[in-house]
Amino acid sequence: MGKIRTVLGDIHPSSLGLTLSHEHVMCDFAGARSVDRSRYDRREVVRTMLPYLLEIRQLGVTGFVDCTPAFIGRDPIVLAELSKAAGIHILTNTGLYKEPYLPDYAYERSADELAAMWVAEIEEGVEDEIVRARTGRVERFPVKAGFVKIAVNPGPIEPVQEKIVRAAARCSQLTGAAVVCHTGHPVAVLELLRVVREERLEPDRLVVAHLDAVDDRSVHAKVFEWGAWASYDGVSGSTAERTLKLLELALAEGFEEQVLLSQDAGWYSVGEPGGGRIRGYSYLVKVFSHLIEEKFGKSLVEKLLVRNPARAFEMR
Ligand SMILES: [Zn+2]
Repeated sequence: MGKIRTVLGDIHPSSLGLTLSHEHVMCDFAGARSVDRSRYDRREVVRTMLPYLLEIRQLGVTGFVDCTPAFIGRDPIVLAELSKAAGIHILTNTGLYKEPYLPDYAYERSADELAAMWVAEIEEGVEDEIVRARTGRVERFPVKAGFVKIAVNPGPIEPVQEKIVRAAARCSQLTGAAVVCHTGHPVAVLELLRVVREERLEPDRLVVAHLDAVDDRSVHAKVFEWGAWASYDGVSGSTAERTLKLLELALAEGFEEQVLLSQDAGWYSVGEPGGGRIRGYSYLVKVFSHLIEEKFGKSLVEKLLVRNPARAFEMR
């Protein structure tokens, strides 16, 4: 039987419930050399972000996938506190993003070595990546990662990103965890697909993030036909029409079992007073789900926001 690994422990996939599959609680874009835990106050982040999580909890959301990667403000302690306070299952991740958010060890280590580090973050606990980058020491938080989050650069893939994709695929094969990859660029998607196919990753272990930002429909078709997840995670008032059109196309071709919806919203911006301007998480459930229901029926809402996320993030 599969399980979903949340920041507070493992749950049965059927307990995840209504889920936002790609959001962010906190981000720090200072870069791998400058990020530091002294740049923010955990209590202030929790105090600032809790109302946004309570708002969606009241709307029925019980699952929240935090896609903030290592070196961009991933903080498992903040996520665990928010999970407890809001009563929402939250998932955090292992993996590495892209320049300028890569530590030196991303270049120095092999794909297998990186994969082993990430397996340990899923099985033993997330390490403090900043401590690792500065001192080489491993300090683990009492929180395990529930999936792998990586990125590919736009355009032809760079060697370090290709290695990261290979490491993610190998980590997934060893743990059963899903790989969520930041894309948003058509060539990046095709490069990603090429590398994971070479690694013989199970297609349904790959979530192609930001696919809704790719205009070329033939790229969506390639993702669907291979069997990966299409993450339409840029849902907002201004993209609603476009996302509905993408859903219509997916439905017409029978690929709605492979679609995830989310908003890529949030987040507490480290370095800005009070966390800066934060985009709440409620639009998708409060407004957009009703647009889906009107156009395609209620069962599609359940599929996209309950059934699909539980299948995508189930560790088998
Ligand atoms: Zn994101």
